[in-house]
This record gives sequence, structure tokens and C-alpha cells, in this order.
Amino acid sequence: MPTPIGHALAGYAVAEVTGIRLSRSHTVSAATAALVATLPDADYLPGLLWGNAALYHRFATHSLCAALLVGLLAGTVGWVRCGRFFPLLITVAAAYSSHLILDWLTPDTRGSPGIQLLWPLTDRFFYWPILPSLELERSDAPGEFFASLLTIYNLRVVAFELALLGPLAALASVLPRRLAHRRAPWTPGGEVDPSDGGRPPSSGGQS
Ligand SMILES: [Zn+2]
Repeated sequence: MPTPIGHALAGYAVAEVTGIRLSRSHTVSAATAALVATLPDADYLPGLLWGNAALYHRFATHSLCAALLVGLLAGTVGWVRCGRFFPLLITVAAAYSSHLILDWLTPDTRGSPGIQLLWPLTDRFFYWPILPSLELERSDAPGEFFASLLTIYNLRVVAFELALLGPLAALASVLPRRLAHRRAPWTPGGEVDPSDGGRPPSSGGQS
């Protein structure tokens, strides 16, 4: 499975590609999308209370139904606060779903073989491990879980994911803006329409 760092990068990238901000602040919006993409692995917490961190891991929280519910919750909050329902629903559901896709495509020999992608329609675990992945060292015992993650080996796993997903996240951040830049309309006087992400006039473009 990817680490929370890998999932956060993927969630950030997905939100950037949608071009829909979750907040007026770009930083807050990016951080929120990254956080949403790590949410499914909160299913470790109830397991920790019952003595085994992996007890509920990759079950209902790793389903499209959960992605839709979290998206609906975000859309409802967005609608109440600023009248934006569908943009927040789509972006949050997409960021959450990025986690499902990565878990579906990466090997995980420690936990369940796959994820319950179509829960509650079926309890079947879906699994297609075609992406490269290094698994984290960890203990599932409640008293050792968090401390067991702090190893040099796990640091290398994070570095591997940063090298793999970091450039993709950077590309997702830059590409949509560059494409909008190219498509930006020009007003007859050569002025930029700022409401459409227009580019500034080139030198000599103004009379
Ligand atoms: Zn997961």
C-alpha cells in the first residue's frame, strides 16, 4: 500500500487537475484535498482499539460508496457555507477515490488482499497490483503501531514514493494552468479577460 505521503500527493494532484478549489486559499485547498485522500486509512484506528490495527483495514472505508458519502458531506457543507454543492462533491469524492485507485493497483501482502471497492453491493475484495510498491514495516499491536513506523527502511519507502509521485503532482499543479493560459481569450483591445485566467499581453502587443 502507498504511505499517507503517497496518498496525499495523489489527492493533491487530482484536486489540481479538476481545477476546483475547496477554499479561497490555494494552500488550504491543496492541504484539504491531500488530507481527504488519506482519510480511508483512518480505518486503522478502530482496529487499534480492538487490539489489531489491520482488523478493519480496507473494508467499507475503501469503497466507492464511502467516497460518494464523503463527497456528499463536503458538498452539503459547501452548499450551506457558500452555495457550492457539486464542485465540492466532485473534488472531494475524486480526491478520496484516488486513495482507492492506488490501493487497488499496489500490492499489499500485510493486510486484506485488495479493497472492498463495491461495498455494500458485494463484500468481494478487488485487487489488481500492477504498480511498483514498497511496503511499510509496521507492527499491528496497538502499543507498537505508531512507533514501529519510524524506521530508516520506512523513510526510504517514503523517499521512493516522493520520487515516483512528486513529479506527477508537480505536473498536475502546473499543466492545467498552462493549458488555461494558452486558451485564454483576448479582448479586442488586446486586454486580458482576467475572469478567464487570461495571459498578460506580450511585448509589443499593445498599441
Ligand atoms: Zn488504504
